[in-house]
This record gives sequence, structure tokens and C-alpha cells, in this order.
Amino acid sequence: MERNELCWCGSGKKYKKCHMPIEEKIMMHAERGEIVPTRKILKTPFQIEKIRKSAELNTAILDEVARQIHIGMSTQEIDDIVYRFTKEHGGIPAPLNYQGFPKSVCTSINNEICHGIPDENIILEEGDIINVDVSTILDGYFSDASRMFKMGKVSERAERIVRVTEECVKLGLEAAKPWDI
Ligand SMILES: [Zn+2]
Repeated sequence: MERNELCWCGSGKKYKKCHMPIEEKIMMHAERGEIVPTRKILKTPFQIEKIRKSAELNTAILDEVARQIHIGMSTQEIDDIVYRFTKEHGGIPAPLNYQGFPKSVCTSINNEICHGIPDENIILEEGDIINVDVSTILDGYFSDASRMFKMGKVSERAERIVRVTEECVKLGLEAAKPWDI
């Protein structure tokens, strides 16, 4: 692709002002024999906007769970909230029927690390910590985020793992940056 042609990504900018610098960098790494991303996973501005919209809904679902989660409710009720809210806003819960997963959200309590399955017989109790992991498809674009909730007063150990995990997430997000070009 020529430097002054319009970029392949559809941004309307010239290639040299858009994806050329990143692709030159990728080529440099490829020449060194490294594994490099293909054009297919270099997202276009259009795709990034769609992912952003999906993620906005995903966050809104977590906010709705945050408003309603309480001691004494079942994890099935959390599933119902996620299913209803997602559908009302035009989305599809990504976990539902994914490789046979039967529910719309993952609810993992205490020593359950992840991918816990909501159940009407699992009731939130004082002292529980629960991770609610929401993934959403909106308009064909996926987003995924989870949030920890503490039920009432939790043990010092539980408090600590929630705090340290959050610190780790923040450090990870700070470290995850685009290549500087
Ligand atoms: Zn471009």
C-alpha cells in the first residue's frame, strides 16, 4: 500500500498518517523472526467504536448487578438480572450456550476461582466474596469484564485478596499499552 493512498482500515486518513507506522514496526519485528499480529487483528476505528459500545453495555450490566446484589439472594437471581438487562438493551449474554455453558453470567464464590455456574440453590451469605463475570455481544462485538462484591463483613483474608487483586489489575492495565511508534 502506498503512503499517500487512503488507509485500508477505512478511517479516511492517508495510510502514512494511519496504519503505516504500526505496520512498519510490525514488519521490523517480523524480519527478526518474531511472531507478529496480522492485519486482521489490527482493529479499525469503526471496530474500536463498536467494541466501545459493547463494553459500555457490559459495564452498565455490572452496575445493575451492583445495585441489586444482596445477602440472601441466589446466584440464579444474578443470572436473571444479567439476562434481562442484556436483552432489554439489545445485547446477547456471551456465555449463554457457549461450549455448552448453561447460563448468562459466571458467579464465583469464595474459593471458586472463576466460571462458577449460577444456581437457585446457591445463596449469598454474610462474609462471602463473589466475582460476577459478565461478557456481552452487541452488534457482533464482544466485551468482557468482571467485578468482585463483598457480602457484608468479610474476613481479613477475603478483604486482602480482593484488595491485592484489584491492585494487580490496576498495575496490569497500566502496563498494557500500545507500542510507541
Ligand atoms: Zn488505518
